[in-house]
Amino acid sequence: MAKKQFKAESRKLLDMMINSIYTHKEIFLRELISNGSDALDKLYYTTLQEGESGVKRSDFHIDLAADKEARTLTISDNGIGMSEKELEQNLGTIARSGSLAFKEEMEKKEGGAAGQGQDTDIIGQFGVGFYSAFMVADQVEVTSKKYGEDTAHRWVSAGADGYTLEEAEKDGWGTVIVLHLKQDTEGEDYSQYLEEYTLKGLVRKYSDYIHYPIQMMVTKHRTKAPEESEQTEGGTDAASEKAPETETYQELETLNSMEPIWKRPKDKVTDEEYHSFYKSRFNDFADPCRVIRTSVEGVSSYTALLFIPGQTPFDYYTQDYEKGLALYSSGVLIMDKCKELLPDYFNFVRGLVDSQDLSLNISRETLQHDRQVKLIARNLEKKIKNELLEFLKTDREGYEKFFGNFGRQLKYGIYDGYGVNKDKLADLILFYSSAEKKLITLDEYLAKMKTDQEKIYYAPGETVEKIDQLPQVQAAKAKGFEVLYLTDEIDEFVVKMMQDYKEKAFCSVSEEDMSVQETEEEKEALKKAVDENQDLLAFMKETLGEKVAEVKFSGRLGDAPVTLTSKGGISLEMEKTLNRMPVNRGIRAERVLELNPDSPVTGKLKESFGRGDGADGKELTALYTRLLYDQAVLISGLSVDDPSQLSQDIDALIIR
Ligand code: ADP
Repeated sequence: MAKKQFKAESRKLLDMMINSIYTHKEIFLRELISNGSDALDKLYYTTLQEGESGVKRSDFHIDLAADKEARTLTISDNGIGMSEKELEQNLGTIARSGSLAFKEEMEKKEGGAAGQGQDTDIIGQFGVGFYSAFMVADQVEVTSKKYGEDTAHRWVSAGADGYTLEEAEKDGWGTVIVLHLKQDTEGEDYSQYLEEYTLKGLVRKYSDYIHYPIQMMVTKHRTKAPEESEQTEGGTDAASEKAPETETYQELETLNSMEPIWKRPKDKVTDEEYHSFYKSRFNDFADPCRVIRTSVEGVSSYTALLFIPGQTPFDYYTQDYEKGLALYSSGVLIMDKCKELLPDYFNFVRGLVDSQDLSLNISRETLQHDRQVKLIARNLEKKIKNELLEFLKTDREGYEKFFGNFGRQLKYGIYDGYGVNKDKLADLILFYSSAEKKLITLDEYLAKMKTDQEKIYYAPGETVEKIDQLPQVQAAKAKGFEVLYLTDEIDEFVVKMMQDYKEKAFCSVSEEDMSVQETEEEKEALKKAVDENQDLLAFMKETLGEKVAEVKFSGRLGDAPVTLTSKGGISLEMEKTLNRMPVNRGIRAERVLELNPDSPVTGKLKESFGRGDGADGKELTALYTRLLYDQAVLISGLSVDDPSQLSQDIDALIIR
């Protein structure tokens, strides 16, 4: 029989397939099953139009059969089938192929042949159709009988050198594809496609929601019925205690679950079903804390089923974590993690999108520019945002737990990109409140602000307890202000990025601006104290040298004698955070030692300073100054610069 040659374009694609070193060769099965499913759809619609009653949709199926001895994998369907002409046209040429068009475009752009390496990428990124069979098979036989015709035909090809086409025998209409699998090589295990286990796994992974049964004869084991085993000779007690005998048998099993949970009517799916679907599909042990299901009909029709995990994935805050939603085209998985569907700040959301408007041939490159995908992503972002607001409103406890798991990501989202997304996210974040002693939203803070209060006060620190001890915090609280305690490293960077919320500026209680809230008398008293003690303050600054930028009196310390604050853009907390990062060593905030003019401790300082030079005078003042500075440093949660100097100073004080 004469060999026919492939059309030029087909040859090119075929070459790509045969020589591919692509790692996801397994997708050939998805492609062939999808073709089978399409053929069944076509038969269904054809007979529906003809009003043909002999064809029942319930009889439709796709079958897999592996023969280890012959090294063949057979995929068959009882769909519409192909006539001789169609076999020739469909499998002998590729009229239109996403992969090929893309490859040619690449070649044009580069003014020459695309390199081998690129070929492999291209294959991976597209649905590659029938020709993908050649990634795993060195010979492919397609026997098909078109619905309504009497003769069947067989198309056989071993690849690039062409194909043969002849009449063949076949019962009933449909298509049977026999793949003669390639021999295993060092790097490639083709034999796995003969294993029940692998085939089941691939069907579940890629084709679970094909709406026709995908069947295979599988080997099963069962224990022999008791009466059978008792018939063995003897029948003594010892014999009946023998391990029960097992036998193997074959049974036709449907490998796919057929109906996607997201296509079932909303009110027919229970929470348990969603939860167990989530856990098995996304490998989580914990139930999701929120299930979002949405269907949109319009320019772009799709259904999305999204989950907010109930716990933080173990690799969530590492480089290994990949965001993305699974993307299906009418129930067929195109991509496991489509990252274009989620913004970074919602990267914790898991789930899937199924759209009939997306083609199987969509690639990672074209995804970024795909209008449908962009539209879906925009809608989903809004949907997730609203769902989180609803969550916050209706289940505070649950939301707080969620915020504990993923709040940091929302905060990163505010900080990221110089704050472009801050307005979208600001109402979702929570901070600890000095007044409520629990997490509150910024709206809740604003709602309770005093009428004369102009700013949102915050204080950063390691823990709530430590922040609570800060003199400037106590002073602000004493004046009746609510203070947000920023205990997460990123918090202060976040409020600095936001600058304000609903026109109220954020202000650290350590900042100078806090004095805006002081009364006239307070200001007057402070000015007087400063004027009278210029020399003392200058002496203290001189004693501490480079350690501080300034020593000053402050009227907001309550009962505490000293506190450490900062001026300039970098606060003490930011100093701590930045110095923990490998690249930013040696960053120091401009420290300010604030002294309470009314404290008895300050009284002692004035006394000793008044005695002039000598052990009881300036020497003692210097000792006090160093001790007070270290005290302020410790209260701020920083470590003292020189612990041995501190020990000596304490000893000196004791033996005086
Ligand atoms: P695509 O499915 O993207 O059109 P393929 O290369 O997979 O590209 O298949 C080419 C054509 O061959 C299909 O459009 C279809 O008409 C025909 N075909 C493939 N497999 C089958 C099948 N199992 N039954 C009937 N027709 C098929």
